[in-house]
Amino acid sequence: MKRKSVKSEGKEEASPDVLKEKSKSKKRKYIKVEFDEDHRVKMKGKIERAHGLLGSMYGIPQKLSEATNTNACNKKDTICEAVVSLMLSQNTSDRNSSRAWASLRKKFSTLDEIRNASVESIEEAIKKGGLAKRKSKMIKEFLNDVHSKYGETSLEFLYTKETEEIKKILLSFKGVGPKTCACMMLFTMDRPEFAVDTHVHRVSNRLGWVNTGTNREKTFEIMNKLVPDELKHDMHVLMIRHGRRTCSAQNPKCSACKLTNDCLYFASSKEEKSESDKELDF
Ligand code: SF4
Repeated sequence: MKRKSVKSEGKEEASPDVLKEKSKSKKRKYIKVEFDEDHRVKMKGKIERAHGLLGSMYGIPQKLSEATNTNACNKKDTICEAVVSLMLSQNTSDRNSSRAWASLRKKFSTLDEIRNASVESIEEAIKKGGLAKRKSKMIKEFLNDVHSKYGETSLEFLYTKETEEIKKILLSFKGVGPKTCACMMLFTMDRPEFAVDTHVHRVSNRLGWVNTGTNREKTFEIMNKLVPDELKHDMHVLMIRHGRRTCSAQNPKCSACKLTNDCLYFASSKEEKSESDKELDF
């Protein structure tokens, strides 16, 4: 029978040093993950297995471009439209950003109309999406920048460029960071680039594919090399679904997860539980 530890009911108060030590030992232990060729090969097998298991949990995603014969970023027609749409999606829900995009397109029928509009009227059109003040300036600046650099509000010429060149050009625009750029590459331009959002970052760390703490850009850098090109689209979509539905930030539902055999977080939780059970036994 398991009983409560006598120690925990002791009358003596623990010293601050002891408390500090205890709280340290409660911190989850992560195994240090080095990135090298061996790790890449080992991870390839794990990622392929996870692809199958996550696919069986959520269904293998179909590329929107294959399903609808349009570009894959919510059917946005052009590269510039996709960038604007992604700017609207920053720090807000899909629902809010879709509403903001619909409202923007209802008010302005072309990108040049948006470019020539006042910041205030753009802000008014996208207010349903949140952070409208900041995003309205960002959108206008981006469209003006494209127009002044290339003489038109279009970046369709990027389709003819090599991947690295496209990345360089996209990242040169203010408001286009690594995540927006990777989403553009993956969804709109169908190039193998592994976008990392907060869910992908958390799940990759918990599984032990990376060990990057809070550094999401580092996760992007490593995962982009680890995930095979042919799985980049699927794994991005599946890991977001997994992070939203099962592997949530607080209280992940490990009992409903098929990845427990390969998960460092799960293994270390089990280890902690058995250690605390031993402490409770006497
Ligand atoms: S076992 Fe738990 S922590 Fe690991 S991936 Fe599944 S839900 Fe996330």
